[in-house]
Amino acid sequence: MSFNESVLICDEVAPLLNKILKDNGLKVTYEPAITSDQIKEKISQYNIVIVRGRTKLTKELIEKADNCKIIARVGVGLDNIDEDAAKAKNIRVINAVEAAMTAVAELVLGLMLALARQIPRGNNGIRNGEWLKKELKGTELKGKYLGLIGCGNIGKRLGRLARGLNMNIIGYDVIPIDEEFSKEVGLMKTDLDTLLQSADYVSMHVPLLDSTHHMIDATKLSLMKKTARIINTSRGGVIDEDALYEAIKNGNLGGAALDVFENEPATNTKLATLDNVILTPHIGAQTKEAQSLAANVIAEKIIQILRGVI
Ligand code: NAD
Repeated sequence: MSFNESVLICDEVAPLLNKILKDNGLKVTYEPAITSDQIKEKISQYNIVIVRGRTKLTKELIEKADNCKIIARVGVGLDNIDEDAAKAKNIRVINAVEAAMTAVAELVLGLMLALARQIPRGNNGIRNGEWLKKELKGTELKGKYLGLIGCGNIGKRLGRLARGLNMNIIGYDVIPIDEEFSKEVGLMKTDLDTLLQSADYVSMHVPLLDSTHHMIDATKLSLMKKTARIINTSRGGVIDEDALYEAIKNGNLGGAALDVFENEPATNTKLATLDNVILTPHIGAQTKEAQSLAANVIAEKIIQILRGVI
């Protein structure tokens, strides 16, 4: 079966996606640098619109998408798409939930190890002519308590990896946590406050919603151990960055690693002035494997929808 729908790809995606769609007869326009105003002008011509994280498909843009059947996000989070506006226009919104879980979980593991051993400080020291051996006495992850806030795809993947390093896993979620996973990693389920009081490392894995915006604020940070560290690879808005800065600067928290920020690109955040903070530019899903898996998943889902299978 071949299709003749028109597709607008608005962000940079793995070339494989373009190829699979073209091989199936779809007419693909690839405009990875398209602006919001340009999308507004032409969105009505397309049946399928594909984005990653850069393009924001706002209500205003979606209301102009008169011929659109599918909006696809080559990734996980849907916070850059106005889902209510899409629903009102009868547009299906799809994403690739499974594609990034290994990439993100492995990044968290790397960030935990980098915090525990202060790898960036050692590296920067040598580059600046300093031998910081005495200052850089670290700690081991073995036996430490890792608190997972959100135990969905990524939280579970991280829990399994961390268990392999003999960490103890604590979990909090608003829905029941997968029993098989809990048994496998020996997960202790708790409420949010108990998790924050007990964990040596806290890792955020929740979507950005009204209910999760600043869910970690000054009050919640004050519950954490002074030596504890918090890692956020989910969405910037879930932690209050000003409160986080104050907590670390005043010695009330051991450190943090952030891959996501309230405003991106976060090139002038004051958190960058603190030694025990590691910052990465939203690279959670930036692996070759995750990008090509996401491209495959999205292409497959689009074709299945056009065939009427899903
Ligand atoms: P998921 O939907 O599989 O899991 C999210 C979990 O959070 C669910 O179990 C849900 O019940 C839980 N949750 C929702 N509200 C909660 C709350 N108030 N308190 C506790 N738990 C709550 O999602 P996922 O695939 O694991 O992704 C998690 C996050 O990672 C998302 O924000 C996603 O956007 C982000 N992400 C970031 C990158 C990156 O590049 N850094 C890449 C992929 C995904």
